[in-house]
This record gives sequence, C-alpha cells and structure tokens, in this order.
Amino acid sequence: MKADIAIIGAGLAGLTLARELSEHANISLFEKARGLGGRMSTRRRDEHRWDHGAQFFTARSRAFKALLKPFIASGDVVEWQPNITTLSPCQPAYKRPWFEPHYVAAPGMNSLLKAMSPGLNIALQTRVETLQQHNGKWRLLDDKGAELGEFDWVISSAPLPQTQVLLPFAPDTWADFGMLPCYALMLKVNDSDLPVWDAAKVNDSSLRWIAFNHRLPGRNRELGAVVAHSTADWAANHLEDCQDTVRNQLTAEFCALTGVSPQAVKEAQLHRWRYALATEVTKNALGHDPSGYVLDSERKLAACGDWCLGGRVEAAFTSAHQLAARLKQQGF
Ligand SMILES: Cc1cc2nc3c(=O)[nH]c(=O)nc-3n(C[C@H](O)[C@H](O)[C@H](O)COP(=O)(O)OP(=O)(O)OC[C@H]3O[C@@H](n4cnc5c(N)ncnc54)[C@H](O)[C@@H]3O)c2cc1C
Repeated sequence: MKADIAIIGAGLAGLTLARELSEHANISLFEKARGLGGRMSTRRRDEHRWDHGAQFFTARSRAFKALLKPFIASGDVVEWQPNITTLSPCQPAYKRPWFEPHYVAAPGMNSLLKAMSPGLNIALQTRVETLQQHNGKWRLLDDKGAELGEFDWVISSAPLPQTQVLLPFAPDTWADFGMLPCYALMLKVNDSDLPVWDAAKVNDSSLRWIAFNHRLPGRNRELGAVVAHSTADWAANHLEDCQDTVRNQLTAEFCALTGVSPQAVKEAQLHRWRYALATEVTKNALGHDPSGYVLDSERKLAACGDWCLGGRVEAAFTSAHQLAARLKQQGF
C-alpha cells in the first residue's frame, strides 16, 4: 500500500517534492496562500505585475537543468539577458557583466510553479497549524481546528521559522540554519520615465537590487512596474517600523539613486518578507543531514527548502530533489 504524505508549502521545494514522490505515494499538498509560488510569487494590481520575491535564477546542477528543460522548450522559462548596471550613491554607475545564463519564468515568476502543478492534489488557502499523533499516524489540523486528514509522513517545505513551530524536532536541530528579512518595493512608473538599463545591483544603500520588471521577457513593456529590494540589514533594523514610513523612505532612495522624478512614481506598494533569504549553512550541523534536508525516519517527519542549503531558487529545488531521492531509496 502507498504511504500517505502531507507536504506543507507550495513553493518550488514543495512542488518538486510532490512531483517526484507522486508515483510512489499518495501526496496531499497544503498551501496557506491563495496561489502557488511562495517566494517565487507574482503580485497583480490592475494590469500591472510585480515579481516581488525572486527575480531570476541560475541553474548549475544537472538535475535542475533537467527540470527546466521542458519548461524552457514550452516558453514557461526564458533566459534573461538584461542590460545590468551597478549603482552606488558614492561612485559612478558601471555596467555589470553576467557570466552564466540567468532565467526567469514568464509571464510571471509563478508561471514555473503553475506549469509544474497539473495533476497534483493541492489545497490552497489552507494553513497547517497543528500536528497530532493518532494511531501511529500524523493528524493535521488547520488554523480553524478543522481536520485535514491523517498521514504516514509529514514534510514541511515552509521557511525555517514556520517549519520550526510545526515540526516537533529538538531545538538544536535548527541551530545551524537562519533566515533574513527583506522589503520589496513595487512602483508603477511609465517606462519612458525610467533609465535605459534594465536592472541594477546597488551598493552602499538601503536598497540592494532594482529591476524594471516589465522589461523581463514575456511581460508587457507598456505597464511600467519597478521592483526594488532592500538589504537584509536595513530590513532587520526597520522590520517593525510604520510601513508607510518604510515605503516612503525606500521610494525616496530609489528616486535618489536612479534620478527618476518622485512625480513619475504613480503608485507605491510594499511587501515585508520576514523570511526572505537563508543564511549560509554550517556543514555537518547537529541533527541535519549534510545532503540538504532534515529527516527523522523513525517519526516520519522531514523538512526541506532553500534554507537547508544556504538559499536561492536552485537550493530549494536541490533540497527537495535530494530528500525525494532519499525517501524513495529507503522505501519511505
Ligand atoms: C525578496 C526576495 C528576493 C529573492 N531573490 C532571489 C533571486 O534573485 N534569485 C534566487 O535564486 N532566489 C531569490 N530569492 C530566494 C528564492 O525566492 C527562494 O530561495 C525560493 O523561492 C524558496 O523556495 P521554497 O520552496 O524553499 O520556499 P517558499 O517559496 O517560501 O515556499 C514555502 C511555502 O510554504 C507556505 N507555508 C508556510 N507555512 C505554511 C503553513 N503553516 N501551512 C501551509 N503553507 C505554509 C508558504 O506560504 C510558501 O508558499 C529571493 C527571495 C526573496 C524573498
């Protein structure tokens, strides 16, 4: 009989795991948000779209390249070759070369996740809040106390702090992992009011990254949509500040850095990512497998995600891919 597995989170790690295990087990995926994507989400307002989490990704491993191949062929993933610059309030701008292919999903970053999801059993707007042991199985409850089912295995792909509160592991299991915050500023600005470059790595500023999101492949160039990301340090120091103040400060910094007139900014929105980016992982940490996931085969609990491997899109895939291989190898 196939094992019943609950996977928490429908970002890249959760969807990778669900796809790779679905032939071998009965998979139920639970996602608290309204849509797929996690930190590869796309925000819509009117006709405008902003990729307010990951803006691009690289593909270095053979396994990740193999995942992407059919989606590149179908046009869901496209190589991005921007005119990229480096900005600083202290130094003149200079052009920045990229030495390896960088990819985006099109028409939004969540398109890759949507393309990966057909055939999977996914419950959206379902926040897993409680795990209870019951007759040798795990019973899951949502945030209203409603039962979500009983499962042999529970695997969390939620960001580290959200996984920590769900899975009953010893506290020192998590000692070598960490996550940092980031603010995402989303602006409506007409394309004609923006500089000629497409994206900028920013130094010596509260911002670290600026992209003219509507110029990414597959987007509508008429609908000027800027994304700017703060540094982790700045976000940590202003995490609980009034969000209107944060939005105004980052908008002013964007205008000062780029020379865009404040009057050209038609609308500004802010998203606070409390758990945006993973810190570097210390190898051979207590309680975690160095191959990139957390596993307790006795109790049938596991965790995976970008934070297990030091962060970024490819790390999310690799962590889930390696956990799936291990579970298949040991027969659950
Ligand atoms: C601002 C920002 C910029 C970034 N830039 C880049 C970049 O340029 N390049 C790059 O490679 N990476 C970048 N990243 C990192 C990249 O987005 C992540 O590494 C990757 O998307 C993580 O995928 P994941 O599946 O591990 O986690 P997530 O995408 O976070 O997925 C976890 C999912 O779990 C869900 N969840 C959490 N708790 C529960 C619960 N209790 N019940 C149900 N569901 C739950 C969440 O809603 C979420 O959808 C960026 C991230 C941010 C935030």
